[in-house]
Amino acid sequence: MPDAIARIAVSSVPYWVDRPYDYRVPDALIAGCVPGVRVHVPFSSGNRRREGIVLALRDRSDCEPEKLKEVTEVLDSQPVLTQQQIQLALFMRERFFCTVYDAVRSMLPVGLWFDRDGHRRVQDRTVEIIRLLVSGEEASDMAAAMRKKTPAQARLLAELSPYGEMPLRELLLFTGCARTTANKIVESGIAEVISREVFRIPSFTAGERRPMPVLNDEQQLAFDGLDELSCRNKASVALLEGITGSGKTSVYIRLIDSVLRRGKSAVLLVPEIALTPQMLQTFSSYFGDDIAVLHSSLSPGERYDEWKRLKSGRAHVAIGTRSAVFAPVENLGVLIIDEEQEDTYRSENTPRYDAKDVAKFRCYKSGCLLVLGSATPDVESRYFAETGKYSRFVLRKRFNEMELPEVTVVDLKQELRAGNDGSISSFLRGELQTNIDRGEQSILFLNRRGAHKLVTCGECGYIYKCPKCSVSLTYHSVNRRLICHYCGYTRRVDDACPDCGGILKYVGAGTQLVEEELHRLFPDSGVIRMDADVLSASMTHEQVFERFRTENIPIMIGTQMVTKGLNFENVTLVGVLSADQSLYSGDFRAAEKTFSLITQVIGRSGRGRKAGRAVIQTFTPTNEVIRQAAKQDYESFYQSEIRIRALQESPPFTDLISITASGPVEHLVVEACRFIRKRLSGLLSSGKKTELLGPTPLAVVRVNNLFRYRVMVKCSADATIRSAVSGVITECSTDKRFRGISFYADNDPEF
Ligand code: ADP
Ligand code: ZN
Repeated sequence: MPDAIARIAVSSVPYWVDRPYDYRVPDALIAGCVPGVRVHVPFSSGNRRREGIVLALRDRSDCEPEKLKEVTEVLDSQPVLTQQQIQLALFMRERFFCTVYDAVRSMLPVGLWFDRDGHRRVQDRTVEIIRLLVSGEEASDMAAAMRKKTPAQARLLAELSPYGEMPLRELLLFTGCARTTANKIVESGIAEVISREVFRIPSFTAGERRPMPVLNDEQQLAFDGLDELSCRNKASVALLEGITGSGKTSVYIRLIDSVLRRGKSAVLLVPEIALTPQMLQTFSSYFGDDIAVLHSSLSPGERYDEWKRLKSGRAHVAIGTRSAVFAPVENLGVLIIDEEQEDTYRSENTPRYDAKDVAKFRCYKSGCLLVLGSATPDVESRYFAETGKYSRFVLRKRFNEMELPEVTVVDLKQELRAGNDGSISSFLRGELQTNIDRGEQSILFLNRRGAHKLVTCGECGYIYKCPKCSVSLTYHSVNRRLICHYCGYTRRVDDACPDCGGILKYVGAGTQLVEEELHRLFPDSGVIRMDADVLSASMTHEQVFERFRTENIPIMIGTQMVTKGLNFENVTLVGVLSADQSLYSGDFRAAEKTFSLITQVIGRSGRGRKAGRAVIQTFTPTNEVIRQAAKQDYESFYQSEIRIRALQESPPFTDLISITASGPVEHLVVEACRFIRKRLSGLLSSGKKTELLGPTPLAVVRVNNLFRYRVMVKCSADATIRSAVSGVITECSTDKRFRGISFYADNDPEF
């Protein structure tokens, strides 16, 4: 008989030793050791116990049979991954330069993870149900007959008989009977006690069931086209380009409905900030408990149970943020990514995956449609739609036929000349006052939390910097401390400059300062602030938004958390306090991000029946991106941006892969990067059009006492190049000279 060999991906191994390992499956474990279950195996020379997942079974190994170790334990009774998910994990290793097990973990809810002792963090929740084994009438007759001799049992049976079954705990509570009474009934064969799985379902107020939205002509056209694509059962990608308020959500709802009718399932991804109870309520009013939510703010128990409802086919629509792209639905019919240009779809921790790439893989394997929706599509997506790689559908009108907000650009240089160095220009101040007078609401956006960007000495120029990172510290007025936004280091401020004793100046306003300024300008009006500091202090997202809405608070000031997906009927004014902030970061996506951000913020205004206005404050009012954003003219923005990308040879005309080295000794990190560059230029010299850049320091070179440098490969990334990059990382990681330095690769990195 041939051996039973399992190919296994092992946990907690560094990237450079990660590969499938062969293990022999002992006879006793053969039945349960199938692809997709997790196991314990001995690993490395010490034979330490490791968790692993079975990728495949085979009857022969390339290793010598005597050298094979044995699987010691099977941990799951059912596979936790499907065949397709196993393939996905292998794809992720190649694409995102992570280990297979890192990929596997990101697919499984935390509640399903094992700790080091092999215990699960979250248990299945079950309730005991008592169920009649005779008919209700028989039970009720028996109850009558038993009344004299065993009154307690009679009461219990009488209560149970009309229902046939009920949770045992409730029955005992209602009747005041003891558990032993129930046991007696069970012993006599009249009823049985079974345990039934129950689900912790996240609470959001389910709206009343509504009929499907009736689409307007434009929406109908887009829906028809998308639905036709989705009915083909072939892999395809479509871009749904619709201005803010055009009703992309209604198109998604109809599309999901159509897919469900064909017996398939759907996944909808939304950016972190857009997943509000309001939105879930909308979806549940159409699809009831056929939806399951996957979101990081659920408890591990809830998240695990929602995952199970999807996996078991009790729910067919997964809605969630980035990681919901792994939702374990079978028979995928459509996958939708809303606001597809958002950064939040890219993970910045291991595994550094891009949900869009994962989505493409899933749709390709499932032969289904991927819909990318946006008001300001990613320049690459739009380019692919232009060149025919994706289909394209456009919504040009706002659903309520409202005009887009009227936008005014304010020149902050003139404002300074006029002696106003606050954050609110006199024009914006007037507009805010108008709104207060009308009882309408305003949203102000500033992408900097804290009170001041930095504290500096007016005399010697001393700046408070983080001792562990190469950034200045931000002043927070709430607790009067300086904080590093990279590593969390904090300290108090001195009364005078610690170097020369000069007077300290507070420079660059953050949201806290603006809040104070607003209180001074409008002493009788309420202001609410929305940023990471408010959230970490006490309130949740929803609470802040709910207060803003129900208490009709006149002004909300916030960071990018206030820019997207929100739908407040009474908001008729938005202000962008500093439009220049993200424009000069040096990232090849800087223009795109700025355009998208400004357009999104403006889109929050005038979503109800009243017309909206917007004010953009900038030091560079003639900058083309700002002018295009003010006109909300995606088309001309795209046309000029794509020309620049072509000239720069940046994506979509090429791919970028970076290898980053980070370590405590700066010159060694640089040396490692030089080595990487040299190796790559040797490996890639085969006539392909590639360009190597660097070593260059990251925008913030030192974080938490680690120096960070990178080498960039500009090329059309194919399997050869990826494997060269992977090989170089392996080589560096095992090179004694570079001990203490860690390496990772990333696709299309931020600058
Ligand atoms: P987008 O996501 O494109 O910015 P939304 O989907 O939020 O726009 O739609 C904007 C507003 O128009 C919402 O209040 C929505 O309820 C309404 N709306 C859009 N389409 C329809 C429709 N077909 N029927 C009824 N209301 C709609
Ligand atoms: Zn720091």
